[in-house]
Amino acid sequence: MISFTEKRPFVIAGPCSAETEEQVLATARALAAQGKTDLFRAGIWKPRTRPNSFEGVGTEGLGWLRKVKAETGLRTTTEVANKLHVYEALKYGVDVLWIGARTTVNPFSVQEIADALEGVDIPVIVKNPINPDIGLWRGAVERLQKAGISRLAGLHRGFSSFGDSDYRNPPRWQMAIEFKRMMPDLPLFVDPSHICGRRDTLAAVAQQALDLNYDGMMLEVHPNPDEAWSDAKQQITPSQFGALVDGLKLPKISSNDPDFLASLSGLRQQIDEIDEEVLNLLCERMKLAESIGVYKRNNNIAILQPSRWNSLLEDAKKRGESRNLSTEFVTALLQAVHQESINKQENIIRK
Ligand code: PEP
Ligand code: MN
Repeated sequence: MISFTEKRPFVIAGPCSAETEEQVLATARALAAQGKTDLFRAGIWKPRTRPNSFEGVGTEGLGWLRKVKAETGLRTTTEVANKLHVYEALKYGVDVLWIGARTTVNPFSVQEIADALEGVDIPVIVKNPINPDIGLWRGAVERLQKAGISRLAGLHRGFSSFGDSDYRNPPRWQMAIEFKRMMPDLPLFVDPSHICGRRDTLAAVAQQALDLNYDGMMLEVHPNPDEAWSDAKQQITPSQFGALVDGLKLPKISSNDPDFLASLSGLRQQIDEIDEEVLNLLCERMKLAESIGVYKRNNNIAILQPSRWNSLLEDAKKRGESRNLSTEFVTALLQAVHQESINKQENIIRK
């Protein structure tokens, strides 16, 4: 019986879309021969952003997945977005279902799938919604749990964003870490293909996820990636996939070595003490901001002083740089601190 924790990392690989029987079987044979794939993926119904793109081969492709399993022994998974997809996939013996990012955003669709799965013992992988809303992600998992699905995993495929980015779907690691904190028992996988949207950064993203203790990954693999009917830029050949997996370093989750544990706990204690000091200092800082708020109120002066804020931020960036703190970090920290000061002053002025 398939379990998402049977192996670490649990590796899912296969083409973005099932295109032809030959393409599906050629990919599966190459992957099976390497022995690095725990589950074979192929999209049968493809959610495309605009019409007139390839929308998947439909039910016919499920027969190809059945052949994959019969011939190579690889277990299979495909995306389902409605109850008809579920019924068809179950009829053809697909081993695992996944819910795509465009479906997780829609509670009606997720509930329809959950209802169709009531009483069916099949594992389901839930991708994060395209928008950065962990509540929807969690809600989708909960709907499936309520329908009695016990083998579930999350799949982090990044979030859509406006404007330029090096990623097709920026990972926003913090969101996935928070999701993991909320659902600590749910295995969490990464989908470097849809995060990166390109080949050259896949390995780095896969490694980053393992360093963050993820349980596995999904990678798009195609015998001839440049000719793929969907997501051509991000797919890799079976041999590139093999090299990528071989190059990953799997960190241990923990160690029982007493020296290691003693040094770790000493360092963590120091970190806790520093965090305590940082919070105390921030509290002092807010009190000063409140005193300034009183002056501003009494003299009818606006709370936000753009030139002061600008010089404060520029100074902090320079000071951060000389202390080896990244500009992004210092900016985000100062923005949060400044916003809290503004909130405090607003409370004073409204009193
Ligand atoms: C896919 O896995 O091919 C897919 C459509 O992914 P997502 O739902 O993450 O966009
Ligand atoms: Mn894809």
